[in-house]
Formats: sequence, structure tokens, C-alpha cells
Amino acid sequence: MRIAVIADIHANLEALQAVLDRIAALTVDEIVCLGDIVGYNANPNECIDIIRSEKIVSVLGNHDASATGREEPNRFNALARSAIFWTREHLTEENRLFLLNIPREKRAHEFILMHGSLHDTNRYLLSRNDAAENFHLLAGLPGELKLGFFGHTHIGTAFIDHQGSISSDLSSELSLSSGKRYLINPGSVGQPRDDDPRASFLVYDLDDRTVQFFRVEYDIKMCQDKIVRAGLPPQLAWRLEQGR
Ligand code: ZN
Repeated sequence: MRIAVIADIHANLEALQAVLDRIAALTVDEIVCLGDIVGYNANPNECIDIIRSEKIVSVLGNHDASATGREEPNRFNALARSAIFWTREHLTEENRLFLLNIPREKRAHEFILMHGSLHDTNRYLLSRNDAAENFHLLAGLPGELKLGFFGHTHIGTAFIDHQGSISSDLSSELSLSSGKRYLINPGSVGQPRDDDPRASFLVYDLDDRTVQFFRVEYDIKMCQDKIVRAGLPPQLAWRLEQGR
């Protein structure tokens, strides 16, 4: 069984469509999403509609929570905050209710899906110390979970725990071994921040226990035009071509 893992779509319809086209060509059995379907870019309803119609299992992101009014964007920077207020004005009630019902964490198969960190949607998992804390929490969950997927940082990476020693791995292909534990981020579909503007996702093969990262080009110009026309801050358009 092969599962595509996507994250941080952020209302970027062009990137989401390009990623789903690539996934369709990869013979994947299921797609899961690590949250932040909305925020920053101009097509929140269209992106949610796709998540719903494709029955993509998702967990809640911090932007999703703020867009519903379930949380206030107090810790957001000015750009992110103004996009949240724009999104609140444009989100349909049906899609707002859909976001309100998304869980913060979800177990699927032999792994767990989260947005930021285990038990904390807003917290960034950036360093090996952050990873160590999350591996500790993972060990406290029933069922000997050895694998978690997370988003939020918009940077594809894998943290590996081998008997308490934590390392990170940025290679585009990984072979998971049974004696180790893993926390893996697929990177962002709609706003990559690793200086590579192409949309990012991964495919996990449960039988081979391999992870493969993919980058996909999409129509950045079209997405930028929509941001500007929508009256969202132009810096949100500019950053897409910078990949940061
Ligand atoms: Zn995000």
C-alpha cells in the first residue's frame, strides 16, 4: 500500500492541482493531509472542496483553526494575520463547519498525523531537541508507534531516533528500518520555505517501508495574480517565487 502525504496547502489551488496530478500518475492508494488547507493564498474554498470531494483525511492546522474563529491569530505575524481575516470573510459557512470538525491528530495505519508537534498544533518541530521531545511523547502513546508525519515548518525533513540518539536526514529517499523511529515532514504544497519554490510532498510505501519526496512545478504566476487581485498583501505573492 502506498500513501501520499501532503501538508500546508494554504489555499494555493494551482499547487494543489499540480500535486494531485502528479500523485495520480504514481499509483497511490490513499492521500492524507497534515493541515493548513487555508491561509496566505486566495483559494481557500476551492482547496477545501477538493479535500472533501477526494475524501482526503486531514488533521487541523493552526491557520485552519484561526480561519474558523476557533482560535485567534495572536501569535501570527502581520502578513499571516491579515490573510486569516481575509479568509474568514471569504470562507463559506459549509467549509467553515468542515474545518471545525477536523481533528488535531489522527492515527492511520501504523502512524500518526499531526500539524505542528504531537499534542500541540501551533508548536514548530524544527530542531533535534524538538524531535527528541516528540519522540518521548510518541513513546507514551499506546501501540508502539514508530512513525509520525508532521507539517507546519514548510520544510521537508526526517528526524530519526535510534535508541535515543537523534539525527536528521534531508535525502529525497529514505528506507525505514524497524529498530528506529521517525518523524517526517513532507514539506509544503502551497508555500515552500526551503528556497525551492516547487510544491513538495512525499509518498510512503507501507510494504517496502520507503519514503520518497517529490517536487512539482506549478503555475506560480497564476497564483500570484489571484493573491494581488484578491487584495491580499502582495508580499504573499512575491514569497512564492522565492520559496520562502
Ligand atoms: Zn502552514
